[in-house]
Amino acid sequence: MTTQIFILSLFAFFALASITGAAILLLLFKKNRPRYISYWATGSILTGVGVILVMLKAELPEFIWYKFANALVVSGAVLVNFSLASLAGEKIAPRAALIKTGLAFLLLIGSLVAVSEVFGSIHQPIVIALTSSILSFYGAYFCLKIQKQIHYKLASTLTIAFLLFGTVWFIRLLTLASFNVGFATDGGLINVFTFTALLFLGLMRYIVFIGLVVGISEDEKYQLAESFNQLKLDIANDKVAISEQQLRYVLNATGDGVWDWNILTGEVKHNPRWLEMLGEDSSQPFFSVDDFKSRIHPNDLDLVQKHLNLTLEKDVAYLIQYRMIRRDGRQIWVQDAGSVVERSTEGRPIRMVGAISDITKDRVAEEKIQNLIYFDSLTGLPNRQFIHRKFKEILSQPADENRFMGLMYIDLDQFKIINDTYGHQTGDVLLQKFSDRIQGVARPTDVVSRIGGDEFLLLIQGDGSSYEATKLFIEEVASRIFKDLAVDFNLGKNIFAKTTVSIGIVIFTDDKAHFDPLLKSADIAMYAAKESMDNSYCFFDEKLSADFERRSELFSGLGEASKLDQFYIEYQPIVDQNKQCFAYEALARWRHPSLGNVMPDDFIPFAEKSGQIMEVGEAILKEIFSSQAILSHIKVDGGPYLFINISATQLMNVGFVDQFFSLCEKYDVPVHKLHLEITEGAYLSNIDAAIRVINRFTSKGVRFILDDFGTGYSSLAYLQKLPIQYIKLDKSFVSGIVSGREYRVLAKNIMSLADSLGLEVIAEGVETEEQFEMLLLQGSHYFQGWYFGRPEKLLS
Ligand code: C2E
Ligand code: CA
Ligand code: CA
Repeated sequence: MTTQIFILSLFAFFALASITGAAILLLLFKKNRPRYISYWATGSILTGVGVILVMLKAELPEFIWYKFANALVVSGAVLVNFSLASLAGEKIAPRAALIKTGLAFLLLIGSLVAVSEVFGSIHQPIVIALTSSILSFYGAYFCLKIQKQIHYKLASTLTIAFLLFGTVWFIRLLTLASFNVGFATDGGLINVFTFTALLFLGLMRYIVFIGLVVGISEDEKYQLAESFNQLKLDIANDKVAISEQQLRYVLNATGDGVWDWNILTGEVKHNPRWLEMLGEDSSQPFFSVDDFKSRIHPNDLDLVQKHLNLTLEKDVAYLIQYRMIRRDGRQIWVQDAGSVVERSTEGRPIRMVGAISDITKDRVAEEKIQNLIYFDSLTGLPNRQFIHRKFKEILSQPADENRFMGLMYIDLDQFKIINDTYGHQTGDVLLQKFSDRIQGVARPTDVVSRIGGDEFLLLIQGDGSSYEATKLFIEEVASRIFKDLAVDFNLGKNIFAKTTVSIGIVIFTDDKAHFDPLLKSADIAMYAAKESMDNSYCFFDEKLSADFERRSELFSGLGEASKLDQFYIEYQPIVDQNKQCFAYEALARWRHPSLGNVMPDDFIPFAEKSGQIMEVGEAILKEIFSSQAILSHIKVDGGPYLFINISATQLMNVGFVDQFFSLCEKYDVPVHKLHLEITEGAYLSNIDAAIRVINRFTSKGVRFILDDFGTGYSSLAYLQKLPIQYIKLDKSFVSGIVSGREYRVLAKNIMSLADSLGLEVIAEGVETEEQFEMLLLQGSHYFQGWYFGRPEKLLS
């Protein structure tokens, strides 16, 4: 009798506690009540009511008292499990939860009826114990999941409570089966004991659960919109340092993928745009942090992690760009901006909200421009500028002791012949294949680059600590190159060709090394190597330098040429979009007494190297300006302009500007009709001085054309700085444009680049109508080439 009273009062207490607990939860989460609260509370009420029914044994028919009441208690447990599953992040819709709980209820009643019929009603508790035990262990499984996401002590306590609960139910199952004890109020001590334990543990679960959810403070969680507005406000109020453009990305909330990360539960919510950006299933409302991580490009993961940690720990503004992998495998670039919007009183981050925007397009454009600046479009190799930068970078690294390094200047001997015999396209193939082979020879630490037509550089970072060791090492590299070249190049169209190279090498240590003088030394060494017909290399030394000087004397004919009036000029027309003559380009030729006509590509570089360019340049200018034939053309109002090539050394010479204008005055040249063509590479070392010189010309109405644009030298950075009006798209582009898609794409890019910088584009080397039409279509403004007229002497 006392046992019965004891058990009954336990029951009463438990039922009361269940229902009160549910009421507390419902009251606490009045607004924006999470599903798992509703499930848990409903479950507790069902259990409470069930237990009350069990207590009222005497007043009720057997069916209600036992089968119905216990089914209620068990369905309550089912709902509690749904609650735990939701808290662990699983999506369980209310309808589904209701239906499944209902089914569980019916199933249980069915089983109880079946067991009573078949084995007798005394065995019903076995069904209850079995079901409850399974449900409790299942509940423990969800608790474990929660525990992983919520680093709260209470979460693990909840797991323990469920595990114990399941274990006691299991013990009860065993005792029921082996001792044949029956209903709650019957049976011996063991029954009392298990019952007490069950009720105690059941209560404990409630208390722990309430403590847990209140701790998480879920109330806030659903105010995503508000917090995001706060974030936007912070950004707008400059609380988060952010640039104008970035601000645009973030504020453009409609275009942004917003995420809201509950740091305690690990749950990350996303708006539809986020899901759409990553090609995710929009019905999936929840991503764990791990899900998110798995979408980040592996190479960027560290970066993101680092920034996140900084923001979480130190509240540093979170703003980074990284790559993500969409569900379909496509890679996108995103900009991610966010901040911690909530911290606990101890300062622990609780919640972070942010927005990602898809910046793939911008990044791709940026990369294209980068490629334009630092990479040669034909071979994909770094260009002169890149190697120049790399050179500085390597030298700025601290070294323990003197490091010896080598710079190799490699020139193809047969390139011109192959180019002239088989055409540019085949020439291009040769350059590409050659660059592949050189790259095959280089080690990862070496830098290969193409600095001009058929000229390549190899920067070798020797491990040699002495000159001799480095020399030996570089000789090995050279012989490897030669060995590689023994095999014919397959240039397509059944053309097989062999080519040899001339290599000039300079060895240097990292103290006081400068790129330009070293390049010049390597170049001189290369010329020396060229003397021999076959593959050969030559190291630069002082003797070579002296030899070069001596050789210049032999070429002193060039100096004479200026005096002897051996230069003459040919003019080539430049036309506008209607094929009307827009200008003439003056192209110099040297009538050599014994060699015959020498073309400028041969004597201009020599004049530059030997320091005679000023006299040669002046003689050419005089030749042009004294020609009445050209002057009468350009003096006509609305008549054509005159383009004159000026070499870099000439332009940068201190006396040049005055020399130029005094000649103009002397020959009465209409200065505003003159355009000067310059190439860019040589100004790299002193861009500001170049700008000053150019400004002196432009202030008098002379305009500037950047010649040979698109070859290795071109650079966007300098293009923006130089006060020029036109760029001349190099012939190599024009020749490739009809057949090569890459050329078209690149040419198009250059056109839009020029357009955005307010520059007009002149295309040179136009040889066919097809090329003209293609260029016209792409937006080129002026055209020059054999199709419109070859360089010719001008008759007045
Ligand atoms: P550039 O300024 O790029 O001149 C264009 C070169 O392409 C000229 O060669 C011209 O004859 C050639 N060309 C013109 N149309 C076509 C065409 O449709 N197809 C092909 N394949 N080629 C075409 P040129 O006259 O031998 O001049 C070579 C270079 O010498 C010039 O290249 C220029 O950089 C330099 N140069 C010429 N005259 C002078 C000068 O007076 N002073 C200086 N400093 N350099 C000069
Ligand atoms: Ca030119
Ligand atoms: Ca050119």
